[in-house]
Amino acid sequence: MALASNSSRSNIEAKIFHHAGWKESFSAIVGGDEVKAGKPSPEIFLEAAKRLNMDPSSFLVIEDSIPGVTAGKAAGMAVVAVPSLAKQSHLYTSADEVINSLLDLQLEKWGLPAFQDRIEGTLPLEPWCIGGPVIKGFGRGSKVLGIPTANLSPEGYSAILSEHPAGVYFGWAGLSGRGVYKMVMSIGWNPFFNNTEKTIEPWLLHDFNEDFYGEELHLVVVGYIRPEATFSSLEALIAKIHEDRKIAERALELPQYLKYKDDPYLESSLHQEN
Ligand code: ADP
Ligand code: MG
Repeated sequence: MALASNSSRSNIEAKIFHHAGWKESFSAIVGGDEVKAGKPSPEIFLEAAKRLNMDPSSFLVIEDSIPGVTAGKAAGMAVVAVPSLAKQSHLYTSADEVINSLLDLQLEKWGLPAFQDRIEGTLPLEPWCIGGPVIKGFGRGSKVLGIPTANLSPEGYSAILSEHPAGVYFGWAGLSGRGVYKMVMSIGWNPFFNNTEKTIEPWLLHDFNEDFYGEELHLVVVGYIRPEATFSSLEALIAKIHEDRKIAERALELPQYLKYKDDPYLESSLHQEN
């Protein structure tokens, strides 16, 4: 495994220094100041291959930039693009595959050993929390589809959401004064904010007799299911969401996910005053 960046060697080292084990995990690190021409020239990747004493064609390049994709292809390597800007995938057509986030990287597609961390159709995550009052959504009529999503107020959570790629996730939901429920949710781009803000739409897997707008909802997100997708019909979309629900319902019974049902963050929403 090699790291090849147009940044100078010293800047690369300064950046990865703080992350334990990162430097050691690369057999070669090539900085932009160590080659004559940086990306989009293939030179930096060819230099990395040379230092590893391997044929360029046996490498898989993982790139976030367009010049990097161009460089990887020019070096005769397979390239998976992970665009750093949302909704830019149409600009990356020369890559062999464009994925939304590293959560979707499937090494086995490229003749490399597969990641072993998926369980029963889910990818465990370092759990993260988000919560607030339930607000009116965006009138997409999810209740009409039989899939109500309790939208959270965006106030104060755009930073945490920017860390998490769009896609389908699952976990536990604590609703003030009521209980803790399984939930499956999507993180997506809010069409009202010109693609700069993400929204979070949790579907609580429980039948409620009434709406709970204004109530305090706390979520612990424990795993990832799949990236966002486009569907040819509404029926296909609904079928997929129900498939996601089944995956989440089953997975949340596994000890490694079930244990977060007792997370104090969920409980704290059950004793809210007002
Ligand atoms: P909106 O566009 O306002 O979010 P939805 O059609 O998505 O409207 O319905 C969501 C609302 O439905 C939630 O805010 C909540 O008050 C209510 N609701 C009822 N049952 C559920 C459930 N199982 N999961 C999520 N929300 C539910
Ligand atoms: Mg909604």
